[in-house]
Amino acid sequence: VGLPRRIHEVTAGPVARAPDRIALVEDGASWSYRELEQRVGEIAAVLSSLGIRAGDRMIIVSENCIALAALLLATSRLDAWAIVANPRLSARELDQIRDHSGARRMFFTSGISKEAAAHASRYGAENRRIGPLAEIGVGPLNESATVQPVETDQARQVAILIYTSGTTGTPKGVMLSHDNLLISAKTTAYFRRMNEKDKIYLVLPISHIVGISLLIMTLMVGGTVRMVSKYDPAATAKAIAEEGVTILNGVPATYQRLLEYKSVSGVEQLPRGSLRLIAVAGAPLDLNLKLRVEKEFGLPLLNGYGITECSPGISGVRFDRPRSDQAVGTLLPGVEARVRTTEGFPTVSGEVGELHVRGRNVMLGYYRAPELTAKVIDSEGWFNTGDLARFDGDCLYIVGRTKEMIIRSGFNVYPAEVEAVLSSHKDVVQSAVVGRAVDGNEEIVAFVQLRPGSCTTPETLMHFVRSQLTSYKRPSEIVILDALPATSTGKILKHKLAESLREGGAAPAVQT
Ligand code: ATP
Repeated sequence: VGLPRRIHEVTAGPVARAPDRIALVEDGASWSYRELEQRVGEIAAVLSSLGIRAGDRMIIVSENCIALAALLLATSRLDAWAIVANPRLSARELDQIRDHSGARRMFFTSGISKEAAAHASRYGAENRRIGPLAEIGVGPLNESATVQPVETDQARQVAILIYTSGTTGTPKGVMLSHDNLLISAKTTAYFRRMNEKDKIYLVLPISHIVGISLLIMTLMVGGTVRMVSKYDPAATAKAIAEEGVTILNGVPATYQRLLEYKSVSGVEQLPRGSLRLIAVAGAPLDLNLKLRVEKEFGLPLLNGYGITECSPGISGVRFDRPRSDQAVGTLLPGVEARVRTTEGFPTVSGEVGELHVRGRNVMLGYYRAPELTAKVIDSEGWFNTGDLARFDGDCLYIVGRTKEMIIRSGFNVYPAEVEAVLSSHKDVVQSAVVGRAVDGNEEIVAFVQLRPGSCTTPETLMHFVRSQLTSYKRPSEIVILDALPATSTGKILKHKLAESLREGGAAPAVQT
């Protein structure tokens, strides 16, 4: 079966096959495929009357909800570019995105969260009804916004501009085409054997590439997307028990919090309901966590690896071939990969090196940053992921990130290995290891978050790692923090931790 050319066309198949099947659900509302298609048409017409044209950028500040999905699909109909921004961004971050993208208008689904409403009033947005949608904050028209050229091949038109969560500190606008998103969604859905009976509980924000991809792949197979505006482990457990959810897809922190909820609430067992697939992506998966989650749900936790620039799918553990280790699975169909030394030479088979990938899933480039794009995509189309990886046969392992590798006295230290040891301690919730430059060398500093009420000290942890790591891999210092600074998807902001060391060791601010 061929791919649709643009993302809003994914609903055409389900509309033809089963128009009354439910496509989108949120608290108190649901839309069938037929309704979704009709309403997206109406919304596109209103957007047009609000001045949105092909090649415009349009920012939608919203948490996961039906209105967001509908606005996104309507943007696609108009050949405009959607930028979905998490309402939890600060005013400064949102201004940066608006200025960099040169968006024609901003939309705020203010009915959903007070954060979005606060942003809407700052930009002077007016509340309006957009076709069948309840009131949405509509920002003023930016008359000076330029229109980007529209591709004659619609599949190559930019569908979304996504500003990466910036765990390395510099937000970049990743241009993803319709084809990029559709191929990644299709191959991932295939690995998972997804079908129209699936109902996904969408806890990952659609402002993040994994969330957007899950939305597209579920609609593509004619399944149901249960929108979750804010992740709450108790509500998640309840929905699993009562709503016929078949797929839960999170980041490691999603599962960590579910397990914490279980121990705090005293429930004996988390419900399994109709769950058939649990998956995780977006950050390194701690083996201990994987085993605990699998035991809890009686299902394998399928790991998947991707990056915003690859829309995001690179590899995944297949539904029919679960793994008992931390492997991120095999390459998705159509994705090529090679492992290189930092100087660009091939590594010996099975050795760790930088992972380069090529395929239809690789982004068009960074918006307004051709030099930055040329740094990561070479003339043959190979994209350097910046991740350190190795293959065991056809199975891929992510070992760390090039920029996070610590070189101590000439030895390579992969923070993930040290973190895995620390996190295996019974009192450690999570840890993050960074390098600190000292006299031309690098020292290892570990930041650790303990279970509430734990009395473990840095000395005890130091003793614990000593028995498990050779001397050059051991931290010189272990710092205990109440919480580690993280992105909205729970990824630890290591550059903030590293900065705090450069600034004299003050504990970094924690984003909640
Ligand atoms: P920036 O590009 O600014 O650093 P970011 O790190 O948040 O931002 P994303 O595209 O959100 O960018 O994250 C992709 C990265 O997440 C990958 O490069 C990899 O390091 C990590 N990652 C994703 N999935 C996995 C996984 N299953 N196991 C280990 N690491 C993963």
